[in-house]
Amino acid sequence: MEISKRTRELRTENAFVVLKEVGELVAKGNKIVSFCIGEPDFDTPRHIKDCAVKAIDDGKTGYTPSPGIPELREAIAEAQSEYKGVDIKAEDVVVANGSKQFIGYSILSCTDCNKGNEVIFPNPGYPIYRSQIEAHGAVPVALNLLESKNFGFELDALREKVSDKTKLLIINTPQNPTGGVLAKDELEEIAKLAIKHDFFVFSDDIYSRIVYGKKFESIAAIDGMQERTIIADGLSKTYAMTGWRIGFAINKKLAPYFSTWVTNIEACAGHPNQYAALQAVSGPQDEAEEMRKKFHERRDLIVKGLNEIPGITCTNPRGAFYAYPNITEACRMTGAKDSEEFREKLLYEAGVAVLSDIHFGERIPGEGEHMRMSYATSNSNIKEGLNIIREFIEKNSK
Ligand code: PMP
Repeated sequence: MEISKRTRELRTENAFVVLKEVGELVAKGNKIVSFCIGEPDFDTPRHIKDCAVKAIDDGKTGYTPSPGIPELREAIAEAQSEYKGVDIKAEDVVVANGSKQFIGYSILSCTDCNKGNEVIFPNPGYPIYRSQIEAHGAVPVALNLLESKNFGFELDALREKVSDKTKLLIINTPQNPTGGVLAKDELEEIAKLAIKHDFFVFSDDIYSRIVYGKKFESIAAIDGMQERTIIADGLSKTYAMTGWRIGFAINKKLAPYFSTWVTNIEACAGHPNQYAALQAVSGPQDEAEEMRKKFHERRDLIVKGLNEIPGITCTNPRGAFYAYPNITEACRMTGAKDSEEFREKLLYEAGVAVLSDIHFGERIPGEGEHMRMSYATSNSNIKEGLNIIREFIEKNSK
């Protein structure tokens, strides 16, 4: 009996490797200040939980239609139309157990296996993009995001990557791991190329409600783009609902196919959870807004603190809850050969857990060393963690 090549070679989220290391250290009694986890540290708002409990009590426990209960699709269409400045119909929305599934469903729906169909994805970026592109037999084409461009890309670099082999281009704005937000001219260039070369754009909007200052701009709102944009979004980050597993994708042409993928793989999203989601999307938004404000405060705290540490500089992330400081100089000062060695030393010698840039893709020549810090944690943890990092660098400076 053989295990298939695609499974043997299946990539994963390396963050889980670090989480395992952290778990082992904690189990041995070590105190670790963690900046690893990409999920809100808040609990799901009470009024949302209550609706799930009520749904269970009311017997909403069987299968639902594959694309989701009609009320939820309707509510998502309305809320997303308003937030993203597009006109979405309920039938364009498909709900699943998380937005993550739609990465795979979109690649499966837009490419054929082993035909040289290319998918452009961001580097650094969420590791599941590359993993799913390869698992489904498409060709991964990395688009480098540069610190000098506030973690956007060079328009010429994008033009070089696009060809008639391009079937799908993935964007994620605000972005994991950099916190970067794509600029209008970048979105417009993607739109121009998508129309010219006739490909779909997968817009991973999972952090779209966690933005600071500027309003979120959806590529779907650019002329001619709604039909070719797959809006992927969900409840996980906005409403502190990661474990409820509710996400959705929106595209008129693809919705019936997504629905068939859901039938094939998941049957439907969790029934009571869909009622919780309905409440989250259509009920009061003040707690979601409070969480966003807290993240904003913490962003200011962590970025200021990082920039005060010798050897570290940090650009100001405009969304999500990640800081992506440049630690090239800190590595040099402490004799760490790269970000990964710095991360390991920081964890095992100082008790601070972060992720390094290599967990999010291949190194880009000339970009230096970075680490990702999730600030979905308390102000006191942020202050304590920053103090430890400063002491660690001072103590180990050669
Ligand atoms: N996209 C990105 C960029 C993410 O960071 C995550 C979660 N870490 C997801 C998608 C998946 O979110 P969900 O919980 O909706 O599956």
